Amino acid sequence: MDLATLRQALVYLVGLLACFGLWTFVIYWLHRFSHIHHRLNPLWWIHRAHHAEPYLRVDSRPSWPTLGQYLFWLGGVRLSLDVILVMTLPLAIIAWIWPQYGIPLLIFHYFYEVFLSESVLDHNPRITGRLTHWFAWGDFHLHHHVNLKRNYGLLVCIWDDLFGTTQTPEPGASLARIKARLERLERSRAVARGNRSATEGAELRELSNA
Ligand SMILES: [Zn+2]
Ligand SMILES: [Zn+2]
Repeated sequence: MDLATLRQALVYLVGLLACFGLWTFVIYWLHRFSHIHHRLNPLWWIHRAHHAEPYLRVDSRPSWPTLGQYLFWLGGVRLSLDVILVMTLPLAIIAWIWPQYGIPLLIFHYFYEVFLSESVLDHNPRITGRLTHWFAWGDFHLHHHVNLKRNYGLLVCIWDDLFGTTQTPEPGASLARIKARLERLERSRAVARGNRSATEGAELRELSNA
């Protein structure tokens, strides 16, 4: 490889990194904006669907995507729109301005969302420690599900570090809290079921006494 080619490759790499940085910066702010709880904020209404998902697959191994996921149908209208508006659209604009960088990033984004974001990296509670100080994976992102005002970054943590929204949980602590919340949810559902069947039983008794 001659010097001119090496220089060209380096310039390309810098451009690619700059576009990646710009993209993740926009994602960070759009995600942060999505957490403004206001009835006139459609991004919050859309993003709420993501926070309604339990995302707790500690006991299950990552599975292959479904046919819908290959077509970028990410589990529902709001779940798909959430990714398309916050991640795909800004990247499509970048690709429109700088196609040489944006198109490879769009391909990366597609594969990341389809194969990696759900249970392999972003919501994988087995990923803890140093890696989660750099990448918004495992403990870092799961903590956002525990504290909605922290760890907004997707893919990388750098914007949370710069804007003061990083919160590093004890390794595995987010998982314990999410588990506890799910257990509480299950218990209240069981109570609601119990109340319902008790009411139904009383109604039946009333009917049979009548
Ligand atoms: Zn969120
Ligand atoms: Zn999430």
